[in-house]
Amino acid sequence: MDLLYHSTRNSTPAVTASAAILMGLAPDGGLFVPEKIPAFTFPAEALSSMSYKETAYEIMRLFFTDFTPEELKGCIDRAYGKRFDIPEITRLHEAGDAWFLELFHGETIAFKDMALSILPHLMTTAAKKQGVNDEIVILTATSGDTGKAALAGFADVPGTRIIVFYPKSGVSAIQERQMVTQKGANTFVAGIRGNFDDAQAGVKELFSDREFGAWLASRGKRLSSANSINIGRLVPQIVYYFYAYGRLLEAGKIKAGDEINITVPTGNFGNILAAWYAKQMGLPVKTLLCASNENRVLVDFFKKGVYDRNRPFILTNSPSMDILVSSNLERLLYAVSGEDCSAVSGRMQELSRTGVYEITKEMQEKLGCFCSGSATQEETLGQIRGLYEKTGYVIDTHTAVASFVYDSYRRETGDETPTVIASTASPFKFTRSVLGALEPGFPDLPDLELADRLSGISGVPVPAAVSGLKDAPVLHDTVIETAQMKELVRSVLSD
Ligand SMILES: *Cc1c(COP(=O)(O)O)cnc(C)c1O
Repeated sequence: MDLLYHSTRNSTPAVTASAAILMGLAPDGGLFVPEKIPAFTFPAEALSSMSYKETAYEIMRLFFTDFTPEELKGCIDRAYGKRFDIPEITRLHEAGDAWFLELFHGETIAFKDMALSILPHLMTTAAKKQGVNDEIVILTATSGDTGKAALAGFADVPGTRIIVFYPKSGVSAIQERQMVTQKGANTFVAGIRGNFDDAQAGVKELFSDREFGAWLASRGKRLSSANSINIGRLVPQIVYYFYAYGRLLEAGKIKAGDEINITVPTGNFGNILAAWYAKQMGLPVKTLLCASNENRVLVDFFKKGVYDRNRPFILTNSPSMDILVSSNLERLLYAVSGEDCSAVSGRMQELSRTGVYEITKEMQEKLGCFCSGSATQEETLGQIRGLYEKTGYVIDTHTAVASFVYDSYRRETGDETPTVIASTASPFKFTRSVLGALEPGFPDLPDLELADRLSGISGVPVPAAVSGLKDAPVLHDTVIETAQMKELVRSVLSD
């Protein structure tokens, strides 16, 4: 019996994993969820000797049950190989009171590579299984990292096209440069004059635009999403929490069955939701610590049970977390509402109508394993400096938000459970901010020269993803208003 998926807003019809991966978003605008979150089936001790690829296979096969073992292993092999700069794919680094899970060893030196290097393969395999011959058009809104990671993953993958929208003044200079220098005949990148939420809303609108869908179909194309709402993004992210547990076992820091805490710097709620799925599958996780920057929507949600996006959108030094509508929260809402699709869809309607929704006391009680906290931009920089002075380890601004929130949590609660912090980007991706923390008053040089300076301080070589940007030509220079997104997509796809 295959594990089936249905929308968070409507439990029928249910579709197979490959159909859900291919569609991305459910037709009613909801997110695909498995009918039941599978329990992991191997003894926890086994994790201590499993490689990343082995762990990936054992987790993904429980979710993607309509893939054959050969298909799934093929996807995993193509994804987790030479594109990563360490053979282990990810590793744990102990610093201060926590274990930093370095998820930034892929092509774009940020954690989204972990899932986006496999998604194109899951998707093209899914298309074959579904007998779909249409060209798959990936339409993505990005706050910086998703865009480049998706571009890198899909570039020149036969049968696919990718169009990425990013907020023109809402990403770092290096993030922008990474995207506008993207090679690949099937890639298109455009800046929009608006913030990430505007870009995401524009993309969502296109997905639910029937007339546009029909136009695409008449041209032998279909839309899919590489955003973290795709179940093919979420499931690969569950893997590294199991892998991290295995490394703690292997190092003798915990015994099988011991609980750990996980702290995640959070934006769209995909990464921390994957950790919650890992917990539901049976991984011994005590507390999930949700760390926000100054855009504290999620902290207020966990503390008060009210989601309220009506507030100023703050551009911070952790831009990939500058988000007011965390899409993946809908999946958690579905679970804590007792899988009540109408409760979810009612609240999502309220959110789009008024910008606010409230959850019941019962729902709030089911969120007991979550804690939350936030860091200001000053606190973020102070955390980078403090950790460096104490341990010599340099972290990026997003990871620093999580590290700050964890240190506060540990001080306030006295909870000394071994804790994994998801380290979501290399410090070389946010060089200017990180140097500002380590060397206030550093000379105003171009970002790429600052990378050399950061390398001198941290003792870590400049990653190829950054050094290679120096001579790369700009291949994409389109900038548009949010209202022009549809028109642009039409013209890109008309040729
Ligand atoms: C995307 C991103 C985040 C936020 O992850 P979500 O899954 O959207 O919550 C945090 N840090 C970095 C560096 C990111 O790129």
